[in-house]
Amino acid sequence: MTFINNGRFEKFPNKVWLASPTMHDGAEMKYVKEAYDTNWMSTVGANINEVEKVAAEKSGVKYAVALSCCTAALHLCVKFAGEKLYGKPEIGHGAVEGKRVFCSDMTFDATLNPVVYEGGIPVFIDTERDSWNMDPVALEKAFEMYPEVKLVVSAELYGFSGDIKKIKEICEKHGALLIEDAAEAMGATWDGKQCGSYGDYAAVSYNGNKIITGSSGGCLLTNDLEVANKARKWSTQAREAAAWYQHEEVGYNYRMSNVIAGVIRGQYDYLEEHIAQKKVVYERYKKGLKDLPIQMNPFDEKRCEPNYWLSALIIDKDAMCKQVRSGTEAIYIPEKEKSCPTEILEAISSINAEGRPIWKPMHMQPMYRMNEFVTVSGSGRAKTNAYIEGGIEDVGADIFQRGVCLPSDNKMTAEQQDRIIEVIKACFE
Ligand SMILES: *Cc1c(COP(=O)(O)O)cnc(C)c1O
Repeated sequence: MTFINNGRFEKFPNKVWLASPTMHDGAEMKYVKEAYDTNWMSTVGANINEVEKVAAEKSGVKYAVALSCCTAALHLCVKFAGEKLYGKPEIGHGAVEGKRVFCSDMTFDATLNPVVYEGGIPVFIDTERDSWNMDPVALEKAFEMYPEVKLVVSAELYGFSGDIKKIKEICEKHGALLIEDAAEAMGATWDGKQCGSYGDYAAVSYNGNKIITGSSGGCLLTNDLEVANKARKWSTQAREAAAWYQHEEVGYNYRMSNVIAGVIRGQYDYLEEHIAQKKVVYERYKKGLKDLPIQMNPFDEKRCEPNYWLSALIIDKDAMCKQVRSGTEAIYIPEKEKSCPTEILEAISSINAEGRPIWKPMHMQPMYRMNEFVTVSGSGRAKTNAYIEGGIEDVGADIFQRGVCLPSDNKMTAEQQDRIIEVIKACFE
């Protein structure tokens, strides 16, 4: 089964990407060249210092530590939280060894991989329908079930924050720490406060497809000077102050390169511009698709100011044609006036543009089939590619079944986007 284009919609000669890097005519090269010309081709240098300063300012925290990627930042966050909660682990043990950690379910697996690196056991918290973020009600429920849990890792999805303030309050009520994965949400706010400033520890990403990029890179965000200094130490192999290499604890090679920091330094001046462009993309989709049985990414317009990183849609239940997915493949049965993510993705791809399914929820991933999953209405073992049996409402699986991420590149022209809108409309004919 494939979407039959038949030449009705012309193919773009150059691919329209989901989200690709946007450079600015040498603004980034200037700092990269400075690193080169001054020979700071290293993991120390002026670009790194400047990125840390700007990242902290823009995120509304006191300190930022520049690292090789956001996953590395999240890893150190888990180590800090684990040591604070459970004490320093013995060498060879993880910082959250054998402990349950409540984690976002509908997210990129990098959100929780570091929990597993440190021996933790992710318990997945279902997704809120009105925000596509961690559901505070399900989180409360999880604390009722496991009052001993002391760590929560929550990510903001696609740059549209849910009630992260409430998540933090629930954590505080239960004496738990919050790690905020703001990888996708740089520049977005909740109640006027930056995403990345709610967690006890937080992280942002400069991966190639994020709202600004260094090709790679990330920052750990914190208000605690001791944490910032220690993150700098851990990320440079945990060397003690001595003439020789003296080691009292395990270290990592996680520091950001000064060359990459040059790119990021140049990009920060364009963060607001990129957000404005992404907002235009979102609003053009919203307007262009308004007569279809779909909704765009939902958010609370009074409290959330998104960065609009990825525009996504969800098809109304009664406008879904039959779609079945295995672990690696999908098929569907086309139906008049109905569609499904697989058909829309094929249609978009037929004109040389890139869409993507919604993040497949972690509780549906084969590697987490034995982990627990807590929803508003109940809990159970996670299962592979299936709704949990027994009538428990599984919001994440439902959004995954009906949702699609749309081409959201900020360099996409209005004409290109109009053609994408037309091809999506054709799916519902
Ligand atoms: C991109 C992303 C990450 C990982 O960022 P890297 O810098 O590539 O390590 C983590 N969490 C989420 C939610 C992401 O989207």
